[in-house]
Amino acid sequence: MHGGRDDFRALGVHAPPIDLSSTYPVADLAADMASLDAMVAGGEPLGSSVYSRLHNPTVARAEQAIAALEGADATVAFASGMAAYTAAILVARQRGGHVVVVRPLYGSADHLLACGLLGVEVTFTTPDGIRAAMRADTSLVLIETPANPTLDLVDIADTVRQAGDVPVMVDATFSTPVLSRPLAHGATLVLHSATKALAGHGDVLAGVVSSNDAGWIAGLRQVRLLTGSVLHPMAAFLLHRGLQTLPIRVRSAQRSAQRIAERLQSHPAVARVHFPGLPGGDPRGVLGREMDGPGSTVAFELHSTDAAAPAQLMAALTLITPAVSLGSTDTLIQHPASLTHRVVDARVREEHGIVPQLLRVSIGLEHEDDIWADLSSALDTVRP
Ligand SMILES: *Cc1c(COP(=O)(O)O)cnc(C)c1O
Repeated sequence: MHGGRDDFRALGVHAPPIDLSSTYPVADLAADMASLDAMVAGGEPLGSSVYSRLHNPTVARAEQAIAALEGADATVAFASGMAAYTAAILVARQRGGHVVVVRPLYGSADHLLACGLLGVEVTFTTPDGIRAAMRADTSLVLIETPANPTLDLVDIADTVRQAGDVPVMVDATFSTPVLSRPLAHGATLVLHSATKALAGHGDVLAGVVSSNDAGWIAGLRQVRLLTGSVLHPMAAFLLHRGLQTLPIRVRSAQRSAQRIAERLQSHPAVARVHFPGLPGGDPRGVLGREMDGPGSTVAFELHSTDAAAPAQLMAALTLITPAVSLGSTDTLIQHPASLTHRVVDARVREEHGIVPQLLRVSIGLEHEDDIWADLSSALDTVRP
């Protein structure tokens, strides 16, 4: 609530000023030179921001608020979650040529890592296979929990143990810092697509990486200023504003998600429900230990193997929006095999449970009965 707002009283404002300057007038050339040097080295500006690709005060406010939520020394904000991913992998590449990645994960992240664009060698593995996948040149271990789209929970502390002294990065987009703070369990880096619940209103693209490791933070800032993958100050303002209501949005959506998951289980069109809050949904016992709740995304499999059934279901909805993304104020549904995970190899999809009958719902803030009325009547149209 108060992160990034410490100076408001002194400024005489109640909302963050939006600084849209692309450049900053030079008051003292020697001071600007020193500030520039500090930022090129991956540090904070010493006074002037010099140029907005190097630093922006509105972006810095949102970063301070997120760092406070994560219990991190610093947060680095990027233009999107994928820009944040790219920066982290590029820093890892400078430290060693190999990264270990647990599947399943977000489709575009899987695609980015599998396609070789960033020049790192990748070993894809399972939560129990991390130790065996480690090499002398491994510089990063990457997990996503809850995983997209199957909502598998990966044990962060166990991942850290298997990784030894190699840093672990957790994509915690689905849990948000309200439900999980991975740095407290030994992760070196935590990443979020802030496009999702952190900004939370479906009107911002943003990505953030937080850490207590000064070397990683400096490396991430250097990649950001060199590649220009900066967050726009207007987007940073909206992200910062979204954080004001984050805990109540997350808890309200989570409460509805629990009820929707339970009701889905007894709908005759549904073969299986994936939700960590259901009995058997957390086989590793992560809830209560590393996560304060199951979150607000639910996945389910239809009984019907008719290839047209998912599209038919989505077309029958009137309240719920058929769209990719999650963590918004409104409820969204999507078909991972067709959309978010279309870019993932079909064999890999099947292997990790991203079957053609699977749909993923991100529960929003509508009344739970309204969500269920829409979903159940659409499900009635695809009864097996
Ligand atoms: C959406 C998403 C991303 C990518 O973020 P963008 O902001 O869309 O670039 C990464 N990880 C997860 C888990 C996501 O849901």
